[in-house]
Amino acid sequence: MSARGLLLQGGLVAGAGAVARADVLVVDGVIAEVGLDIDIPQGTTVLDTTGCVVGPGLVDLHTHLREPGNEESETIESASRAAALGGYTAIVAMPNTEPPCDSASVVADVLARARTASCEVAVAGAITVGREGRALAPMAEMAALGVTLFTDDGACVHDGDVMRRALEYAKGLSVTCAQHCEDPAIAAGGVMHEGMWSSMLGLPGQPTLAETAIVARDLGLVQLTGAPLHFLHLSAPESVRLVAAARGRGLPVTCEAAPHHLTLDDSECVRYDPRFRVNPPLRPTALVKELIELLRAGAIDAVATDHAPHASERKDVPFDEASPGMLGLQHALGLTVAALGGTEPGDVLALFGLLSRRPAAIARLREADERRAGHSAQGGDLAVGEVANLCVVDLDAPMVVTDQSIASRSKNSPYVGRTLPVTVRHTLLRGVPTVLDATAVR
Ligand SMILES: [Zn+2]
Repeated sequence: MSARGLLLQGGLVAGAGAVARADVLVVDGVIAEVGLDIDIPQGTTVLDTTGCVVGPGLVDLHTHLREPGNEESETIESASRAAALGGYTAIVAMPNTEPPCDSASVVADVLARARTASCEVAVAGAITVGREGRALAPMAEMAALGVTLFTDDGACVHDGDVMRRALEYAKGLSVTCAQHCEDPAIAAGGVMHEGMWSSMLGLPGQPTLAETAIVARDLGLVQLTGAPLHFLHLSAPESVRLVAAARGRGLPVTCEAAPHHLTLDDSECVRYDPRFRVNPPLRPTALVKELIELLRAGAIDAVATDHAPHASERKDVPFDEASPGMLGLQHALGLTVAALGGTEPGDVLALFGLLSRRPAAIARLREADERRAGHSAQGGDLAVGEVANLCVVDLDAPMVVTDQSIASRSKNSPYVGRTLPVTVRHTLLRGVPTVLDATAVR
């Protein structure tokens, strides 16, 4: 299907501040008209979006691509196809590849490999060389290639002085650091949440303090340096409350939560099923409920997948030996709808805020546009003149997750067999469909 002339007809449009019945005409990859009774130019393809919401394409702040170095688990091609099926038009690749993304040459390599992907791929650079937490990586060289987010994700920058210098350096470069909050001494190798279930199962646990202690320290470092900081995959309500309070005092801090921390609890570990091993670990039901309340109250800026594919040889092993992480891209939207629990217009706007507009702002993807040619607007308002990065969601079409429907190379989803409340019908990247009728088309 050519990029020229596409009409999304009959749906509700989730615009900047309202959800309203409107059609969307896309011409040459750009939104040409939004409204009712649009004159349809000759040769226009019409997509029926009746019963669906048309929103900005989703933006994931937290994807593990596994390429380069671990292609048996996932490739940029397979991850981006899973992303498109999940409604995503942009993903931020975490730097824990092999080699790690800690230099301009690796950044350039990943960007080159991603040119034909089914969604845009922004690259997060490592904060320290080798993600080892000691010497700062050449952040300026990476920033010159358009990198706007820096993190050692998978590992915490646990040396406070290194983190302070990273924040100072990042501030000067107008880029944002992001922290994986896990105090290694307090976590002490725990493979699940420390509590009733870890005691019953005889598995070493880690308390929420392993996360919260780093959040508290880093908020102090933000206060000291004035540099922005994004907190990755917060799982403990106390961590979120600390960040929200700091934001209330005017500190430039944001945070994300992952769909699995909003929909699964630590009792899932009862069968020692390694698919439920993840870092930070699944928390008890009471904390999951609190996290959902904080999401509803607006204390969490973004939902980010922490999509972490693992080939079977890393997961078909005892729980405490399995690599932590689970798939996320394809089902994050449905899981977030399930967690928020509503599909009223206000809920829909909140949804696109959490999954598209806020993450695009946090990753500074609009600033990256100006720095790097060929990178188009993400998380937009669906206004005339915007690049048509769109997703069309049927909010009233439940779907069952099956092994066969998983587009990733790895199958480590804990949701196989579950029913999700929504279906992504179509995804458009720069006006060209990547998904039509819930099927990947490129
Ligand atoms: Zn992480």
